[in-house]
Amino acid sequence: MSTANAYLTVRGIEVDVVYKDIKNLHITVHPPAGRVRVAAPTRFDDDQVRLAVVGRLAWIKRQREQLQAVERQTEREMVTGESHYVWGIRRRLKIVERPGRAHFELNGDRLVLYVPAGTSQDKRLDQLDKWYRAQLREAIPGLIAGWEQKLDVTVPKWTIKRMKTKWGSCNRETRHIWLNVELAKKHPDCLEYIVVHEMTHYFERNHGPTFTALMDAHLPDWRSRRDQLNDAPLADETW
Ligand SMILES: [Zn+2]
Repeated sequence: MSTANAYLTVRGIEVDVVYKDIKNLHITVHPPAGRVRVAAPTRFDDDQVRLAVVGRLAWIKRQREQLQAVERQTEREMVTGESHYVWGIRRRLKIVERPGRAHFELNGDRLVLYVPAGTSQDKRLDQLDKWYRAQLREAIPGLIAGWEQKLDVTVPKWTIKRMKTKWGSCNRETRHIWLNVELAKKHPDCLEYIVVHEMTHYFERNHGPTFTALMDAHLPDWRSRRDQLNDAPLADETW
């Protein structure tokens, strides 16, 4: 069976394409971010795939809205016993109610939230969001510094942001990079992959063969990191 991969952007939506010896084209939308994948017969080319995706845009948007609805429904209650992912590891949440400033600690396989009694679910979730951001703020500078050296470029500014459909993005003119706060839930390899991906956009705008070749040179195992980032089942993504 022959397979080839392409990486297209269609009307602002990033699409992973795999060409295979199959009869029909299949489009799927994957949680949590609504990543679009296409399995296309080998007789198709990139333009034909683009057309097929454009033809299913309304459906893709509906799928993404449903994923977001599921995400809202499964929003965590922030009570003892819940699972929360930290750097790709499932942690059991423990709530310890006590006066003073709320803060998180990792203790063995537990994620402990020390919080005053009566703190609302929203405030607890807000604390968790802040803690994830702090985790990223600790991890990102060293990572970026290393890749600045390797790629001989500088990243003048980076920002952690909550994004619905992207793990990262980059402004090629200002070189500003945005990283999704959700990356703190994933294995650190995934964060590195996104950092390298966005920095690689400094050299190449599109996700065509040039981009793929650069990624192969920069980070040879980027495909497995990308799959690790996007393949996690929905159940693991609830929060
Ligand atoms: Zn990109």
